Amino acid sequence: MAKKKNELWRYWGIAAFIIAIAGWLTADIGPVGIAVLSAFSFLWFLFQAPVPCGALNRGDVEQCRNNGRGVLRGCHIRHHQWQKLKALVLRRRWRQISSELFPNATTALASMGAILALASSVTGLVQSLTG
Ligand SMILES: [Zn+2]
Repeated sequence: MAKKKNELWRYWGIAAFIIAIAGWLTADIGPVGIAVLSAFSFLWFLFQAPVPCGALNRGDVEQCRNNGRGVLRGCHIRHHQWQKLKALVLRRRWRQISSELFPNATTALASMGAILALASSVTGLVQSLTG
């Protein structure tokens, strides 16, 4: 029972994301609330979303199929954990980055969610500053 609850709790970032998007449609929350919710959801997509690891193994052919945590973090294999973030920061091997951020449907959705959440957060912030 407790395990089941934990399983659901892992998806809180999606809930925050949906509430934030609903906030834009209904104007119930206000831009500050939306910006905060979106920012949390953005971090969730990057560092907690349950997506496949997807780190490229030796030879750039096989992608790791372990469960990862977040779009940017890999699985429990130490070598995989920050591989994607490193590739992103060092700005090299764009082909590898794109194939690691969009290797399959789950991760591609999470990546797109992260991008939307970031856009929503920035928009909310700008609106709260200018409005
Ligand atoms: Zn891995």
